[in-house]
Amino acid sequence: MHRTYALSSYTRQSFGQRVQKIPLDAGFSCPNRDGTLSRQGCIFCNPNGSGSGLRERGLTIAEQWQFWHDIHNKNHKLELFTAYLQSYSNTHGPIEKLARVISSLKGLPGLTSLSLGTRPDCLDEEKLDLLSAQQQELGLREVVLELGLQSACNETLTHINRGHDAQAFAKATRAAAERGLKVVAHIIAGLPTPHGREGQAELLASVDFVNQLPVHGIKFHNLYVCRGTGLAQLYENNTYTPLTQPEFLSHLSEAIMHLNTTTVIHRLNGNPLKDELIAPDWAANMRAMHNSIRSHFKANDIWQGKKNGAESGPPDWFSPHYTGNIP
Ligand code: SF4
Repeated sequence: MHRTYALSSYTRQSFGQRVQKIPLDAGFSCPNRDGTLSRQGCIFCNPNGSGSGLRERGLTIAEQWQFWHDIHNKNHKLELFTAYLQSYSNTHGPIEKLARVISSLKGLPGLTSLSLGTRPDCLDEEKLDLLSAQQQELGLREVVLELGLQSACNETLTHINRGHDAQAFAKATRAAAERGLKVVAHIIAGLPTPHGREGQAELLASVDFVNQLPVHGIKFHNLYVCRGTGLAQLYENNTYTPLTQPEFLSHLSEAIMHLNTTTVIHRLNGNPLKDELIAPDWAANMRAMHNSIRSHFKANDIWQGKKNGAESGPPDWFSPHYTGNIP
Protein backbone atom coordinates (compact mmCIF):
# COMPACT_ATOMS: atom_id res chain seq x y z
CA MET A 1 0.00 0.00 0.00
CA HIS A 2 1.40 3.39 -1.01
CA ARG A 3 0.62 5.83 1.80
CA THR A 4 2.05 8.97 0.19
CA TYR A 5 2.42 10.45 -3.27
CA ALA A 6 6.17 9.91 -3.27
CA LEU A 7 8.62 11.44 -5.72
CA SER A 8 9.53 7.93 -6.92
CA SER A 9 5.90 7.34 -7.98
CA TYR A 10 5.60 10.71 -9.69
CA THR A 11 8.88 10.15 -11.54
CA ARG A 12 7.90 6.70 -12.72
CA GLN A 13 4.53 8.01 -13.93
CA SER A 14 6.04 11.05 -15.68
CA PHE A 15 9.33 9.73 -17.04
CA GLY A 16 8.79 5.96 -17.11
CA GLN A 17 12.07 5.38 -15.29
CA ARG A 18 14.28 6.68 -12.52
CA VAL A 19 15.72 10.17 -12.96
CA GLN A 20 18.92 10.81 -11.04
CA LYS A 21 19.72 14.24 -9.62
CA ILE A 22 23.26 15.46 -10.26
CA PRO A 23 24.32 18.14 -7.74
CA LEU A 24 26.08 21.08 -9.37
CA ASP A 25 27.82 23.99 -7.70
CA ALA A 26 27.84 27.09 -9.92
CA GLY A 27 29.35 29.36 -7.27
CA PHE A 28 26.25 31.30 -6.32
CA SER A 29 26.04 33.02 -2.95
CA CYS A 30 23.09 33.92 -0.74
CA PRO A 31 21.74 37.38 0.10
CA ASN A 32 21.47 36.26 3.70
CA ARG A 33 25.20 35.47 3.74
CA ASP A 34 26.90 37.95 1.43
CA GLY A 35 25.66 41.09 3.20
CA THR A 36 22.83 41.96 0.79
CA LEU A 37 20.39 41.18 3.61
CA SER A 38 22.72 39.99 6.36
CA ARG A 39 25.90 38.05 6.99
CA GLN A 40 24.49 35.80 9.72
CA GLY A 41 22.37 33.53 7.54
CA CYS A 42 19.31 31.65 8.67
CA ILE A 43 19.66 30.48 12.24
CA PHE A 44 19.96 26.81 11.24
CA CYS A 45 22.24 27.26 8.21
CA ASN A 46 25.68 25.71 8.23
CA PRO A 47 27.78 28.05 6.04
CA ASN A 48 30.14 25.20 5.16
CA GLY A 49 27.50 22.60 4.61
CA SER A 50 26.60 23.14 0.99
CA GLY A 51 28.15 21.69 -2.13
CA SER A 52 29.85 18.53 -3.27
CA GLY A 53 33.38 19.98 -3.03
CA LEU A 54 33.97 19.51 -6.78
CA ARG A 55 33.88 23.24 -7.51
CA GLU A 56 36.55 23.83 -4.88
CA ARG A 57 38.68 21.31 -6.77
CA GLY A 58 38.34 23.54 -9.85
CA LEU A 59 35.80 21.49 -11.82
CA THR A 60 33.53 23.37 -14.24
CA ILE A 61 29.80 22.65 -14.42
CA ALA A 62 30.36 20.29 -17.36
CA GLU A 63 33.16 18.49 -15.50
CA GLN A 64 31.04 18.15 -12.35
CA TRP A 65 28.28 16.70 -14.51
CA GLN A 66 30.62 14.24 -16.19
CA PHE A 67 31.99 13.10 -12.82
CA TRP A 68 28.56 12.15 -11.43
CA HIS A 69 27.08 11.07 -14.76
CA ASP A 70 29.80 8.47 -15.31
CA ILE A 71 29.35 7.05 -11.81
CA HIS A 72 25.57 6.68 -12.11
CA ASN A 73 25.66 5.54 -15.70
CA LYS A 74 28.33 2.91 -15.07
CA ASN A 75 27.06 1.59 -11.72
CA HIS A 76 23.30 1.77 -12.21
CA LYS A 77 22.86 2.12 -16.00
CA LEU A 78 20.82 5.28 -15.47
CA GLU A 79 20.05 7.37 -18.53
CA LEU A 80 17.98 10.36 -17.39
CA PHE A 81 19.37 13.09 -15.15
CA THR A 82 18.30 16.30 -13.45
CA ALA A 83 20.78 19.14 -13.17
CA TYR A 84 20.45 20.15 -9.53
CA LEU A 85 21.84 23.59 -8.72
CA GLN A 86 21.84 22.97 -5.02
CA SER A 87 24.32 25.17 -3.17
CA TYR A 88 23.07 28.43 -1.65
CA SER A 89 20.58 30.58 -3.65
CA ASN A 90 20.94 29.79 -7.33
CA THR A 91 18.97 32.74 -8.70
CA HIS A 92 20.72 35.33 -6.53
CA GLY A 93 22.77 38.00 -8.30
CA PRO A 94 22.75 39.42 -11.82
CA ILE A 95 20.48 37.77 -14.36
CA GLU A 96 23.43 37.51 -16.76
CA LYS A 97 25.12 35.06 -14.40
CA LEU A 98 21.99 32.90 -14.21
CA ALA A 99 21.69 32.99 -18.01
CA ARG A 100 25.36 31.95 -18.38
CA VAL A 101 25.01 29.06 -15.95
CA ILE A 102 21.85 27.71 -17.56
CA SER A 103 23.38 28.00 -21.04
CA SER A 104 26.35 25.96 -19.85
CA LEU A 105 23.98 23.02 -19.28
CA LYS A 106 23.16 22.77 -22.97
CA GLY A 107 24.10 19.42 -24.47
CA LEU A 108 25.03 17.68 -21.21
CA PRO A 109 24.52 13.94 -21.78
CA GLY A 110 21.21 12.66 -20.39
CA LEU A 111 20.04 16.09 -19.21
CA THR A 112 16.27 15.88 -18.90
CA SER A 113 15.26 18.44 -16.28
CA LEU A 114 16.56 21.24 -14.10
CA SER A 115 16.10 21.86 -10.41
CA LEU A 116 17.30 25.01 -8.63
CA GLY A 117 17.48 25.62 -4.91
CA THR A 118 16.74 29.25 -4.14
CA ARG A 119 14.90 31.81 -2.02
CA PRO A 120 11.56 33.39 -2.96
CA ASP A 121 13.05 36.89 -2.74
CA CYS A 122 15.67 35.95 -5.37
CA LEU A 123 13.08 35.42 -8.10
CA ASP A 124 11.79 38.40 -10.04
CA GLU A 125 9.68 38.33 -13.20
CA GLU A 126 12.73 38.68 -15.44
CA LYS A 127 14.48 35.67 -13.94
CA LEU A 128 11.32 33.57 -14.07
CA ASP A 129 10.86 34.54 -17.75
CA LEU A 130 14.45 33.52 -18.41
CA LEU A 131 13.95 30.13 -16.75
CA SER A 132 10.77 29.56 -18.72
CA ALA A 133 12.47 30.49 -22.01
CA GLN A 134 15.48 28.28 -21.20
CA GLN A 135 13.20 25.34 -20.50
CA GLN A 136 12.11 25.54 -24.15
CA GLU A 137 15.59 26.32 -25.46
CA LEU A 138 17.21 23.34 -23.71
CA GLY A 139 14.26 21.01 -24.31
CA LEU A 140 13.86 20.34 -20.58
CA ARG A 141 10.90 18.27 -19.46
CA GLU A 142 10.70 20.18 -16.19
CA VAL A 143 12.16 23.17 -14.40
CA VAL A 144 11.70 22.88 -10.66
CA LEU A 145 12.31 25.63 -8.11
CA GLU A 146 13.12 24.34 -4.65
CA LEU A 147 11.92 27.24 -2.56
CA GLY A 148 12.42 27.65 1.15
CA LEU A 149 9.32 28.66 3.04
CA GLN A 150 10.38 26.97 6.31
CA SER A 151 7.37 28.34 8.20
CA ALA A 152 4.17 30.20 7.30
CA CYS A 153 4.49 32.19 10.53
CA ASN A 154 6.20 35.56 9.95
CA GLU A 155 7.12 35.89 13.61
CA THR A 156 9.12 32.65 13.33
CA LEU A 157 10.68 33.74 10.04
CA THR A 158 11.90 36.95 11.67
CA HIS A 159 13.20 35.05 14.68
CA ILE A 160 15.25 32.66 12.53
CA ASN A 161 16.65 35.59 10.48
CA ARG A 162 15.11 34.31 7.30
CA GLY A 163 15.04 37.74 5.67
CA HIS A 164 11.73 37.30 3.83
CA ASP A 165 8.14 36.68 4.86
CA ALA A 166 5.61 34.01 3.93
CA GLN A 167 3.94 36.36 1.46
CA ALA A 168 7.17 36.52 -0.59
CA PHE A 169 6.96 32.74 -0.91
CA ALA A 170 3.32 32.91 -2.04
CA LYS A 171 4.08 35.61 -4.62
CA ALA A 172 7.07 33.76 -6.10
CA THR A 173 5.17 30.47 -6.19
CA ARG A 174 2.23 31.97 -8.09
CA ALA A 175 4.53 33.77 -10.54
CA ALA A 176 6.50 30.55 -11.17
CA ALA A 177 3.38 28.44 -11.66
CA GLU A 178 1.99 30.96 -14.17
CA ARG A 179 5.04 30.22 -16.32
CA GLY A 180 4.77 26.43 -16.00
CA LEU A 181 7.67 26.21 -13.55
CA LYS A 182 7.17 23.74 -10.71
CA VAL A 183 7.69 24.72 -7.08
CA VAL A 184 8.83 22.38 -4.32
CA ALA A 185 8.28 23.96 -0.90
CA HIS A 186 10.68 23.30 1.95
CA ILE A 187 9.22 23.40 5.44
CA ILE A 188 10.85 22.64 8.78
CA ALA A 189 9.40 21.09 11.92
CA GLY A 190 10.55 22.37 15.30
CA LEU A 191 11.83 25.86 14.46
CA PRO A 192 12.71 28.14 17.39
CA THR A 193 10.35 31.04 18.08
CA PRO A 194 10.53 34.02 20.44
CA HIS A 195 8.37 31.95 22.80
CA GLY A 196 10.08 28.59 22.52
CA ARG A 197 9.61 26.22 19.60
CA GLU A 198 7.09 25.62 16.83
CA GLY A 199 4.87 22.62 17.50
CA GLN A 200 2.23 20.67 15.67
CA ALA A 201 -0.15 23.62 15.24
CA GLU A 202 2.52 25.70 13.50
CA LEU A 203 3.57 22.83 11.21
CA LEU A 204 -0.08 22.32 10.27
CA ALA A 205 -0.43 26.04 9.56
CA SER A 206 2.55 25.81 7.21
CA VAL A 207 1.01 22.81 5.43
CA ASP A 208 -2.34 24.61 5.14
CA PHE A 209 -0.54 27.65 3.70
CA VAL A 210 1.20 25.48 1.09
CA ASN A 211 -2.07 23.65 0.31
CA GLN A 212 -3.60 26.96 -0.84
CA LEU A 213 -0.81 27.65 -3.36
CA PRO A 214 0.10 26.09 -6.74
CA VAL A 215 2.87 24.07 -5.12
CA HIS A 216 3.85 20.89 -6.95
CA GLY A 217 5.93 19.19 -4.29
CA ILE A 218 7.14 19.44 -0.72
CA LYS A 219 10.19 18.59 1.36
CA PHE A 220 9.79 18.15 5.10
CA HIS A 221 12.78 18.63 7.35
CA ASN A 222 13.19 17.96 11.05
CA LEU A 223 15.27 20.74 12.55
CA TYR A 224 18.64 19.57 13.83
CA VAL A 225 21.44 21.61 15.36
CA CYS A 226 24.59 21.98 13.25
CA ARG A 227 28.02 23.24 14.23
CA GLY A 228 28.74 26.88 13.46
CA THR A 229 25.12 28.02 13.40
CA GLY A 230 23.10 30.51 15.45
CA LEU A 231 20.97 27.57 16.52
CA ALA A 232 24.02 25.90 18.04
CA GLN A 233 24.44 28.92 20.32
CA LEU A 234 20.80 28.71 21.42
CA TYR A 235 21.24 25.00 22.05
CA GLU A 236 24.41 25.52 24.07
CA ASN A 237 22.67 28.25 26.14
CA ASN A 238 19.80 25.84 26.80
CA THR A 239 17.34 28.13 25.05
CA TYR A 240 16.55 25.63 22.28
CA THR A 241 15.69 21.97 22.61
CA PRO A 242 15.19 19.91 19.43
CA LEU A 243 12.07 17.82 18.92
CA THR A 244 12.30 14.27 20.22
CA GLN A 245 11.82 11.53 17.65
CA PRO A 246 8.28 10.66 18.89
CA GLU A 247 7.34 14.36 18.78
CA PHE A 248 8.59 14.67 15.21
CA LEU A 249 6.78 11.50 14.13
CA SER A 250 3.56 12.79 15.66
CA HIS A 251 3.86 16.27 14.06
CA LEU A 252 4.83 14.85 10.68
CA SER A 253 1.97 12.35 10.71
CA GLU A 254 -0.59 15.07 11.32
CA ALA A 255 0.98 17.23 8.61
CA ILE A 256 0.89 14.37 6.08
CA MET A 257 -2.78 13.69 6.84
CA HIS A 258 -3.58 17.35 6.09
CA LEU A 259 -1.45 17.63 2.96
CA ASN A 260 -3.16 17.78 -0.45
CA THR A 261 -3.13 14.35 -2.09
CA THR A 262 -1.71 15.76 -5.34
CA THR A 263 1.38 17.27 -3.72
CA VAL A 264 4.45 15.17 -4.46
CA ILE A 265 6.51 14.37 -1.37
CA HIS A 266 10.21 14.70 -2.14
CA ARG A 267 11.45 14.17 1.37
CA LEU A 268 10.08 13.36 4.83
CA ASN A 269 13.10 14.16 6.98
CA GLY A 270 16.38 16.02 6.96
CA ASN A 271 19.81 14.66 6.17
CA PRO A 272 22.66 16.13 8.25
CA LEU A 273 26.12 16.01 6.73
CA LYS A 274 28.73 13.83 8.38
CA ASP A 275 30.40 15.66 11.29
CA GLU A 276 28.06 18.71 11.28
CA LEU A 277 25.40 17.35 13.65
CA ILE A 278 25.32 18.40 17.31
CA ALA A 279 21.81 17.26 18.23
CA PRO A 280 19.52 15.38 18.29
CA ASP A 281 21.28 12.02 17.89
CA TRP A 282 18.26 10.42 16.29
CA ALA A 283 18.60 12.73 13.25
CA ALA A 284 22.01 11.26 12.32
CA ASN A 285 20.84 8.30 10.28
CA MET A 286 18.49 9.47 7.57
CA ARG A 287 17.76 5.99 6.26
CA ALA A 288 16.93 4.59 9.72
CA MET A 289 14.71 7.58 10.39
CA HIS A 290 12.99 7.12 7.07
CA ASN A 291 12.25 3.51 7.99
CA SER A 292 10.88 4.63 11.38
CA ILE A 293 8.54 7.04 9.62
CA ARG A 294 7.29 4.32 7.27
CA SER A 295 6.72 1.94 10.20
CA HIS A 296 4.94 4.65 12.18
CA PHE A 297 2.62 5.43 9.24
CA LYS A 298 1.80 1.75 8.86
CA ALA A 299 1.27 1.07 12.57
CA ASN A 300 -1.02 4.09 12.91
CA ASP A 301 -2.73 3.72 9.52
CA ILE A 302 -1.65 7.15 8.35
CA TRP A 303 -1.74 8.30 4.74
CA GLN A 304 -1.43 11.55 2.88
CA GLY A 305 -4.69 13.47 2.76
CA LYS A 306 -6.49 11.25 5.29
CA LYS A 307 -7.88 14.43 6.88
CA ASN A 308 -8.00 16.37 3.63
CA GLY A 309 -10.40 14.76 1.15
CA ALA A 310 -9.03 11.19 1.09
CA GLU A 311 -10.80 9.86 4.18
CA SER A 312 -11.71 6.55 2.53
CA GLY A 313 -8.14 5.56 1.64
CA PRO A 314 -5.03 6.51 -0.33
CA PRO A 315 -5.82 7.58 -3.91
CA ASP A 316 -4.80 5.30 -6.79
CA TRP A 317 -2.20 7.77 -8.08
CA PHE A 318 0.07 7.10 -5.12
CA SER A 319 1.08 3.95 -7.02
CA PRO A 320 4.04 4.31 -9.43
CA HIS A 321 2.10 2.20 -11.97
CA TYR A 322 -0.96 4.48 -12.07
CA THR A 323 -1.66 5.66 -15.63
CA GLY A 324 -4.91 7.62 -15.23
CA ASN A 325 -5.47 11.31 -14.75
CA ILE A 326 -4.56 13.09 -11.53
CA PRO A 327 -7.11 15.76 -10.56
S1 SF4 B 1 18.77 31.12 2.51
FE1 SF4 B 1 19.70 29.10 2.48
S2 SF4 B 1 21.90 29.43 2.06
FE2 SF4 B 1 21.02 31.40 2.68
S3 SF4 B 1 21.41 31.54 4.87
FE3 SF4 B 1 19.35 30.67 4.63
S4 SF4 B 1 19.61 28.43 4.60
FE4 SF4 B 1 21.65 29.39 4.29
